Parts: sequence; C-alpha cells; structure tokens
Amino acid sequence: MITETVTIDENNIDDSAKKALQRAGQILKDGGLVAFPTETVYGLGGDALNPLSSKKIYAAKGRPSDNPLIVHVACMEDVGKIVSAVPKEALKLSEAFWPGPLTMIMSRNDKVPTETTGGLDTVAIRMPDNKIALELIRAAGGFIAAPSANTSGRPSPTLAKYCEEDLSGKIEMIIDGGQVGIGVESTIVDLTSDTPMILRPGYITLDMLKEVLGDVEVDRTIIDSSSALKPKAPGMKYKHYAPKGELTIVEGEQEKVLEYINKRAQEQMSAGKKVGVIATGKTALSYRADVVKNVGDRDNEAAVAHELFKVLREFDDEGIDISFSEAFDDTGVGQAVMNRLLKAAGHRVISL
Ligand code: AMP
Ligand code: MG
Repeated sequence: MITETVTIDENNIDDSAKKALQRAGQILKDGGLVAFPTETVYGLGGDALNPLSSKKIYAAKGRPSDNPLIVHVACMEDVGKIVSAVPKEALKLSEAFWPGPLTMIMSRNDKVPTETTGGLDTVAIRMPDNKIALELIRAAGGFIAAPSANTSGRPSPTLAKYCEEDLSGKIEMIIDGGQVGIGVESTIVDLTSDTPMILRPGYITLDMLKEVLGDVEVDRTIIDSSSALKPKAPGMKYKHYAPKGELTIVEGEQEKVLEYINKRAQEQMSAGKKVGVIATGKTALSYRADVVKNVGDRDNEAAVAHELFKVLREFDDEGIDISFSEAFDDTGVGQAVMNRLLKAAGHRVISL
C-alpha cells in the first residue's frame, strides 16, 4: 500500500484542506486507516464502530488485541449514542475539559464492537482539542478509534515524520499538522467505579479533576514500579515508549546526579558506545556525552512533557546506544512525565 501524506495547517483550514479532510473521512468510512494530529500525540484512526477497522489498527501497530482503543468524538451528544448511560461526572468533566486531553471510561452499549474495546464492556471516550482532528471525526461519521500512531512499544509520535517512520506502507493516509502541542497522551479517568479513578496520568492533573469532582483516586500501579497489582488500563501493563538504546533514570541531588551520569557516560564512551543524556536548563551545559538534550526548565513540567517523546525518538535517529535521564517531580504534569519516563526506561532507576 502507498501511504499518502497531506499537510494541513490547523490555523488555516482552507478549501483544499477541507477537501483533503473529506477524502480522509471517506477513507475511514470505507474501513481504511488515517494517522492525524491531536493536541496530545498523533493518533492512528479507524472507524470505531467497524470491527474490521479496529482489527486493522491492531495489525498496523503490532498492538496486542486486549489493549482497548480510545474512541474520539466531536460533540457531547455523540457520547450518548455509544454508552449505556452518561454518568453525571462525564457531563461535569466534559464541560470543564473538552475538547481537551481527558479520556473518560464509561459503560458501552452494543453499538461499540468488542474489537474496539479489547473485549471490555466499557469504552474510553475523548474529544480532542485540534481543529483537524475534529473536522476529520465529523467527516468520518462521528466516531474514530485512535491509539497513538506508533509501532507498539515505541515512543508516541509528536511529529508526522515519526508516523511515517512506523506506519508508511501500512495505512492509507497521514495528515501532517506539525508538532503537537502537549506531547504526552491524554489523562484517562475511569467513571465506572464508585469513586472516579485516574488510570493514566496526563496533562489534566489529579488536582484539576478533584476541583470538578471532589473525590478522585489514582490507580497505584501508575507510578509504583514495585506494585504487584495489575493496572486497570490494560495498555499500561505493556512495555512502552522505549528508545532502542537502554535508558536509565538517575534521581538524587543535582550535583550527585551530574557526577554519576558523567562518570557512567565516560565509561560507556570509552567502551565505544554512543551516549545520550536527557538534561534540564540548569544542568545541560555540565554534561559530557555524545548527545545532550535539554528538555527545558525542570519547574516547567508541561515543557518537559512537550519534548520528552521527541527526544526519545531523536536518540534513536542519532544511534544512541545508552542514555541517562534526570528524574522529575512526581506532581502535577510531572506525574505524566515520570510515568512515561519510567516505562521508557523499563523502570531502571538509580537512586543516589
Ligand atoms: P493509546 O491509545 O495508545 O493512548 O492507549 C489507550 C490507553 O487507554 C491504553 O492504555 C488502554 O489500555 C486504555 N483504555 C482504552 N479503553 C479502556 C477501557 N475501556 N478501560 C480501561 N482502559 C482503557
Ligand atoms: Mg500508545
């Protein structure tokens, strides 16, 4: 299959862009797949109500079929069409955060095929905050199932070129809308339990959800690597986001972290390995390694989230064999950053 790439400027959806989106919508209606930008990461879209489309998504990504897909909608009324009942929390949360990086789990009705939900009786739903995505959802008939548009296990794509790298030849179309704004996937909150529970941290933080709902819990398996519990979002148990070279997180006092990483980097470089470091504004100039990436000021966790997956991909592009990263605060958006970083590192953490 030849994959067509079309470029669309989110801030200037002119007539030719509208035509391209109509064509992309038709591809989805016909059971094909289209990668498209959202505000979080690029998604790999298929018709959420067509079981064959969902099967194609799993095949193109190499994704285990028990890992359910998120259904993307363009209006709140459409939620009511695919769930058994709209929980009152969903109304409050959609008012506060949609369109936006928040996915809600609700009980599905039988319009949603089990292929889309990985066999579950629940369905994950989100309204993305990206004009290209919203227009595409409408053109496709209202319901697009879309996981991140990467090969399963690799870092999620924040640029269209990484969708091409992983999916070219496997899907009909890629819509290039430039670099995404947020850079980590949506927060997932389960509304089917007694108390709403965060299953995956993201840009919408625990405190933001609490402000709207009052009581909110967090699935402990999200951060706690030693936990023997099974994560409630099936996808969270899989190896994820991993760069090709081994990544280790080093946490502790800044001076000690610098000293430790420089020492290990020196050893590895002497042994002929190419070494990368994920550094922050204050430390970047003090590392000695083949490639040092400054992901920004450590207090600005949203900026770090924006850069993280891109940097992991760049390490692959640049042939990095071994990499080290500083650790980040586990609060606010930092919780999403650390969750993704821990997975990328296969939970290899050195505490100094
Ligand atoms: P991705 O689409 O790559 O961002 O992954 C979607 C995430 O949502 C995975 O971690 C899934 O396990 C999770 N997810 C999707 N649907 C459900 C559901 N019905 N219940 C719990 N988790 C879900
Ligand atoms: Mg993913």
